[in-house]
Amino acid sequence: MPVGERQSLTQLEIFTENVIDNYDGDRNFPAVEGTSRLSAALKFGTVGIRTVWQATELALKNCRSEEAEQGVKTWRQELAWREFYQHCLFFFPELAQGSYRDEFKNFPWENDEEKYQAWCDARTGYPIIDAAMRQLNETGWMHNRCRMIVASFLTKDLIIDWRWGEKYFMQKLVDGDLSANNGGWQWSASSGMDPKPLRIFNPYTQAQKFDKDGDYIRKWLPELQTLDTKVLLTGKIPSLICKQYDYPEPIVEHAVQQREFKRLYKLVRES
Ligand SMILES: Cc1cc2nc3c(=O)[nH]c(=O)nc-3n(C[C@H](O)[C@H](O)[C@H](O)COP(=O)(O)OP(=O)(O)OC[C@H]3O[C@@H](n4cnc5c(N)ncnc54)[C@H](O)[C@@H]3O)c2cc1C
Repeated sequence: MPVGERQSLTQLEIFTENVIDNYDGDRNFPAVEGTSRLSAALKFGTVGIRTVWQATELALKNCRSEEAEQGVKTWRQELAWREFYQHCLFFFPELAQGSYRDEFKNFPWENDEEKYQAWCDARTGYPIIDAAMRQLNETGWMHNRCRMIVASFLTKDLIIDWRWGEKYFMQKLVDGDLSANNGGWQWSASSGMDPKPLRIFNPYTQAQKFDKDGDYIRKWLPELQTLDTKVLLTGKIPSLICKQYDYPEPIVEHAVQQREFKRLYKLVRES
C-alpha cells in the first residue's frame, strides 16, 4: 500500500466521502473493505487526528441519509477508542508491564509453546483463526473483528498470557502501537479497564456471524477453497476432510477450553 502524507489525505478523502456512509453496517465484516485503513497513517502521523476529526465534521454536514449519519458517528466512536487507550497509558503507565485487574496479575496461564507456535503460524485447525493469522503474517494488517477473535482464542482457548500475543502483534503489525495494542489485548483478555468481567468469543459462531459465506476464510486459506461452506463454518472439520484438504485438525476443543478457563478464573477470583 502506498504511504506518505499525500496518500493518507487521499485515503481520508475517499473514506469520508463514500465508504463512511456504510461504516456502521460494514465495519464488522472482514471480507468487506468497509473500514478506513488509516491506522498506520495515524500511528506514524502522516495524517493528524485533528485533520481526521475535521473531515468527520464535513462528512456529518454532507450526510444524505440516517444510515450515513450513523456511519460517521460510529467511526468517531472508534477514533475515541484510540484516544481512550492513549489516555489510559498516560495516566496508568504500569499497563505496559501487565494486567490492570488484580485477578489477572498472577493468572495461571498454561503458556504451551507448541500451541502458541501453531497460533502464530496459522495452524490451529480453526479456519477463522488461521485465515486471520495468515492475513497478519502476509500483509502486516488484520481486520479489527479478527483481531478480537484471535486475541480471545489465544487467551481463553489456548490459555496463553495475553502479553505473548501483544508482543507478536507488535512484531507484525504495520500499525503496531503500544497504547492501542495493549488496550486491545487487555480488553480481549478481560484483564483491562472494562466493566465486563469475562468475555469469551466462540470462534465458530463468530465466523458464522461475520463471515457467513466463508469469503474471508477462503481468501486467506485457498486450500479450503472448495470446501462446503457449512463444513467450513459450523464446527469442527472432520479428520478425514482435514487429511483430504491438507489442513490441521483443531489443536484444542473450544467447549472444553472455555470450561477450563472459567474454572481457573473462578479459582483466582476466590483466592
Ligand atoms: C488485540 C487488538 C490489538 C490491536 N492493536 C492495534 C494496534 O497496534 N494499532 C492500532 O492502531 N490499532 C490496534 N487495534 C485496534 C483496531 O483493530 C485497529 O485500529 C483497526 O483495525 C485499524 O483499521 P482501520 O484503520 O481500518 O480502522 P477504522 O475502523 O477505520 O478506525 C479508524 C481509526 O480509529 C482507531 N481505532 C479503531 N478501533 C480502535 C480500537 N479498538 N482501539 C484503538 N484505536 C482504534 C484507529 O486509529 C483506526 O485507524 C487493536 C485491536 C485489538 C482487538
